[in-house]
Amino acid sequence: MSYQYDLIAIGGGSGGVATARRAAKHGARVAVVEYDRLGGTCVNRGCVPKKVMWYASHIAHTVRDATGYGFEIEQKSFDWNALVSDREKYIHRLNGIYETNLDRENVDYLPGHGSLVDKHTVKVGDKTYTAERILLAPGGAPVIPDIEGAELGITSDGFFELTEIPEKVAVVGAGYIAVELAGVLHSLGSDVSLIIRREHFLREFDEILSSTLTSIMHDDGLKIINNTSLAKLTTKHNRIAVTTTDDRSLGDFDSVIWAIGRRPLSAEMTPENAGVEVNSKGYIPTDKWQKTNVDNIFAIGDVTGRDQLTPVAIAAGRRLAERLYAGMTDRHLNYDNIASVVFSHPPIGTVGLTETQAREKFGDEVKCYNTAFTAMYHAFSPHPQKTAMKLVVTGKEERVVGIHMIGTGVDEMLQGFAVAVKMGATKADFDDTVAIHPTSSEELVTLV
Ligand code: FAD
Ligand code: NDP
Repeated sequence: MSYQYDLIAIGGGSGGVATARRAAKHGARVAVVEYDRLGGTCVNRGCVPKKVMWYASHIAHTVRDATGYGFEIEQKSFDWNALVSDREKYIHRLNGIYETNLDRENVDYLPGHGSLVDKHTVKVGDKTYTAERILLAPGGAPVIPDIEGAELGITSDGFFELTEIPEKVAVVGAGYIAVELAGVLHSLGSDVSLIIRREHFLREFDEILSSTLTSIMHDDGLKIINNTSLAKLTTKHNRIAVTTTDDRSLGDFDSVIWAIGRRPLSAEMTPENAGVEVNSKGYIPTDKWQKTNVDNIFAIGDVTGRDQLTPVAIAAGRRLAERLYAGMTDRHLNYDNIASVVFSHPPIGTVGLTETQAREKFGDEVKCYNTAFTAMYHAFSPHPQKTAMKLVVTGKEERVVGIHMIGTGVDEMLQGFAVAVKMGATKADFDDTVAIHPTSSEELVTLV
């Protein structure tokens, strides 16, 4: 049987585009289906606009710190709208680059909503296309809770549409997005309450990260309201009144932002028409080759429910394309030791096992090396912040199985150390590495 394409990817985000381009580079006839702007969540309403806002808030901190270095600075104003407008122009340029790149690699771009008709046929609008193989890479969307008045709140998507900074804002949630957006808004001047339903945020992370960031946020005046679940939102004098499940009022806010997780966009692709299995949370399970339960259908990125990060979707997609179209028969992504950064203030960097996970896996063989200090930069700041680091090692050889850091600069520090962890470095290898002075990263190679 001959097909119009070797591969059709549903979803023109991080995973879909990376897979399509790499497959086409190796000679496959490929199409990408996308109903929104090319680039997906990361480019349009995720990593990229978020990092622009993080840079702005980082500058706000730098301006604040500058007095400690002898500068007398009067901050006259901050123009949120001007920044947002420039940010969106930058993103539009990226959308164009994505389209040009597809064109250059001879990947057909099929704008529209893609769904499966059968295991070799994709419907886009009122047309159908056939392919030997199909890639499902639709990503996800923010979750909105099922409570009264939830629609009065916005999500991270709505955050990126704000044309002015909300004066008083409640951010609800306890993961990456809640912590990042709360930090950005607080640094840029909003009165922020971070509402979490349990004791701590970032519970999946090593404990030193959550506890250090909590204390820094407290010192900075960002309000954390813990052990609190919301029952309803109501409108009150053009503001949003927030009521808890135990009937307490948390006050009135200009904006409420839901940051309570994301849901996969699998159902909209009608996977059942091709017999593709979807689990109870809507994720599409795959084996290590990114293959679904249907032999010619693959899934990549957030929809698989694994580490929901852009470089993960890209890496898995490129490896899949190389296995299928470049004869690299064993090529696949190993999901161990994937590093990630939470763009909080200060940032968090983490790779490998947390102390708790390591103790569950290796028991008493685990040892941790910790440090907490005030980095030299902050010795002069009127608002000093702590840096904290933890090295988790195991066995007699003290293999490094986890690194967890919070502090200025750790976001850029982590990538190189992640290479060392991936290569199986030991504490002795770290100790044998001569420090770079004066930096914060030298602390990681001088831990005792
Ligand atoms: P996506 O990039 O979401 O792409 C899926 C695409 O498929 C979308 O463009 C969608 O419109 C399209 N689509 C869906 N269904 C259909 C259909 N039926 N037909 C046609 N098209 C369809 N990750 C990081 O690594 N670093 C960060 O700093 C970071 N920050 C983030 C900040 C925020 C606020 C958010 C929300 C996410 C962030 N992420 C970050 C996560 C990252 O954006 C995702 O992990 C990544 O985009 C996943 O790629 P994907 O290809 O699986 O999905
Ligand atoms: P996460 O899954 O990271 O966190 C959401 C958290 O919100 C949950 O862990 C839960 O924590 C809490 N929560 C869930 N439901 C409710 C509820 N009904 N009420 C109150 N709190 C609730 O989701 P995010 O939306 O923050 O981010 C999605 C993914 O996107 C991330 O996991 C990450 O992979 C990716 N991302 C990556 C970034 C980066 O690399 N810097 C930045 C942003 C996103 P608890 O159980 O403790 O209450």
